[in-house]
Amino acid sequence: MDRQEEFVLRTVEERDIRFIRLWFTDVLGVLKSVAVAPAELESAFGEGIGFDGSAIEGLTRVYEADMLAKPDPSTFQVLPWRGETHGTARMFCDVLTPDGQPSAADPRHVLKRALARASEKGFTFYTHPEVEFYLFEGPADPAQPLVPVDAGGYFDHVPRGTGHDFRRAAIQMLESMGISVEFSHHEAGPGQNEIDLRYADALTTADNIMTFRTVVKEVALEQGLFASFMPKPLGDHPGSGMHTHLSLFEGDRNAFYEPSAPLELSQTARHFIAGLLRHSAEITAITNQWVNSYKRLWGGAEAPSYVCWGHNNRSALVRVPLYKPGKGNSTRVEYRGVDSATNPYLAFAVLLAAGLKGIEEGYELPDGAEDDVWELTGAERRAMGIEPLPSSLEHAISIMENSELVAETLGEHVFNFVLRNKRQEWDAYRAQVTPYELTRYLPLL
Ligand code: GLU
Ligand code: MG
Ligand code: MG
Repeated sequence: MDRQEEFVLRTVEERDIRFIRLWFTDVLGVLKSVAVAPAELESAFGEGIGFDGSAIEGLTRVYEADMLAKPDPSTFQVLPWRGETHGTARMFCDVLTPDGQPSAADPRHVLKRALARASEKGFTFYTHPEVEFYLFEGPADPAQPLVPVDAGGYFDHVPRGTGHDFRRAAIQMLESMGISVEFSHHEAGPGQNEIDLRYADALTTADNIMTFRTVVKEVALEQGLFASFMPKPLGDHPGSGMHTHLSLFEGDRNAFYEPSAPLELSQTARHFIAGLLRHSAEITAITNQWVNSYKRLWGGAEAPSYVCWGHNNRSALVRVPLYKPGKGNSTRVEYRGVDSATNPYLAFAVLLAAGLKGIEEGYELPDGAEDDVWELTGAERRAMGIEPLPSSLEHAISIMENSELVAETLGEHVFNFVLRNKRQEWDAYRAQVTPYELTRYLPLL
């Protein structure tokens, strides 16, 4: 047993932890949990805990259902909402096949593999997400109209607002679990909030996002509310994006920083952005994986619909923030396409792969767009070489299907599972006859 594992065993004993939840994530980004007693921990660290993988989206085919969950001791945290006495803790797990190999279907493994490729080239990948979500009056009932908890807007300070209490409680809980929060504020939609997590290596960030979603949902429930990360819950209001800031480090040096270059962007950063842009359409079925995601992407309200980059351009897919000169290690690029309901492990893996491809192949960065690309006509955009992102889930899948980059990054199993699962989702969606159609067509046709 290594020192981290010993630390976990000691803490479990000292803090009277009675349950340890083993967490992992399915291919669609849904958190899974199995609780074990402290007595099981040693064997969990040894060979892992067996579970039936066939019950879980994308993990196994039915005939190879046995899987193992092996906890990562560095992710051990006590769950604050479960109380101090007879406490509960959690660890993220790697999913293994019965012969102890990493499961090809484990999203955490997909990301680890992508990170290992970056590390072969000397790079560490850091990310920092701005997570947007809505707070509604609870409990959730899809048959009733959604009631946002307030009518506030961007950065509004809502007097006696539910949002403050909520954000304070959620942030305290996150901090007590070792997840640092950088900013939080009311977002543009009624009841819409944003919380930005501090940057960390991409694997830690992805784990943190999974924890974050759980904490936000738990705190909302405690307060009689309901939190949703759905990309576009209200047709007339902005969707919930998860803009993600990306940077590469070589040792302790930010590889994107070049003080004398335009926007202080190194050649490496320019190639990386070019890779993100060139492959953005291929990776959209991963960064925006639901039918509903495309209602956000094409619903205006500062969601990006066109493939271009800019410095202070909030309609661009990739933005290079430059708050003040001399950014040094905080140099980064912001990818604004991702939404809050993505699987963060897979999304970070494909974003990294797209950027690295740009570096390996030396892609040239096209000129930045400083106009609001929404205001341009289609002909103007075409003349400037600005392509649209996929317009629907079906469109995104049909592009991803031909992507070598995505197939390689996800591996065959996850790649095929996503294509199959998302085609089913699209088919189920398009078979619906919606209230919109009935209201519009019945009086007419
Ligand atoms: N809610 C917007 C989106 O869906 C982002 C607004 C902002 O710039 O923070 O991408
Ligand atoms: Mg925002
Ligand atoms: Mg942003």
